[in-house]
Amino acid sequence: MTFSNAFSALAPYGWDEAWAQQFAPYDSEGLLPGRVVRVDRGQCDVVTAGGVVRADTAFVTPHDPLRVVCTGDWVAVEPGGNPRYVRTCLPRRTAFVRSTSSKRSEGQILAANVDHAIVAVSLAVELDLGRIERFLALAWESGAQPVVVLTKADLVPDAVALSYLVQDVETTAPGVPVLTVSALYGERLDVLVALAAGGTSVLLGQSGAGKSTLANALVGQDVMDVRAIRDMDGKGRHTTTTRNLLALPGGGVLIDTPGLRGVGLWDAGSGVGQVFSEIEELAQRCRFHDCAHESEPGCAVLAAVDAGELPQRRLESYHKLMRENQWIVAKTDARVRAELRRDWKRKGAEGKAAMELKRGRRR
Ligand code: GDP
Ligand code: ZN
Repeated sequence: MTFSNAFSALAPYGWDEAWAQQFAPYDSEGLLPGRVVRVDRGQCDVVTAGGVVRADTAFVTPHDPLRVVCTGDWVAVEPGGNPRYVRTCLPRRTAFVRSTSSKRSEGQILAANVDHAIVAVSLAVELDLGRIERFLALAWESGAQPVVVLTKADLVPDAVALSYLVQDVETTAPGVPVLTVSALYGERLDVLVALAAGGTSVLLGQSGAGKSTLANALVGQDVMDVRAIRDMDGKGRHTTTTRNLLALPGGGVLIDTPGLRGVGLWDAGSGVGQVFSEIEELAQRCRFHDCAHESEPGCAVLAAVDAGELPQRRLESYHKLMRENQWIVAKTDARVRAELRRDWKRKGAEGKAAMELKRGRRR
């Protein structure tokens, strides 16, 4: 497989000149370029010019959870070996991290190298501009360009009414394209298909917003079927794998992971950040930006409780809601659950080490 062959085989997955340049040193080491289509407990599936291979991520599992390999990453994998290892992860252009309104789960990386965040909003229910703003904030933070897609436009047959709805959203979302589509009837999809062709997209939005229907329209058939792809593994056997990253027939790539769908759930939930805005505000002054306001030193929230400025009961219900929300997300995805468990363990160990270090310094 020559470099130029690899180029054309990987172009549908978003490989371009800039990636090729960044990869050049690894090419001369005999490593293969590929894009991560799924991660799974210490392993990942990588689409390479020769097909999808499974690789071990032990080499690229840094301490910083934001730098852990995730779906959408471009990596250098070994040409063979049992196990075959991912040797490096190319620097990301953008990264999708779980909403920062959750201080606790900050640091959970969900998708990398996303160009467009398609925020699906249903026209079947009253527009919730505040919720749209939250999804947009999430998208901007990632570095991806958000696009609002008002779905189920067939339910608003009056063109004038529809244009008012679009205007409302446009005012809320300056600099963000606003499209209307009816994915169910395949109407007005051309603009979205063209937009998706220009890079890697993710679908965000509340449950019921029409994300699956949009995904099916973009993919051209049932995504669930397409995701389960029979691949040749490294030993030439057929195996069925689930891909969370798909090349679209109209060009471009769609990343659709349970974790990202969880973000939708999360943000569509009780809006912890908004409901407890005074706590979020206090939290800005906590010493640690990922402070959980439980026992951390320099916690401005706990200080406010001590000073009688914040009712203890209020903080307790905040903690409760945070845990519930996290549970909703975890429930949708066993993998997230496993990651959370590992994260808690790690945080516990890190906390202990940090405390000991501090004590040592004080002495
Ligand atoms: P998701 O939860 O965001 O993935 O939403 P789905 O794609 O499952 O859609 C939720 C519901 O909305 C389903 O019953 C769909 O059939 C319906 N729906 C999706 N797109 C459209 C559309 O363009 N028009 C109409 N009328 N219904 C739609
Ligand atoms: Zn705090």
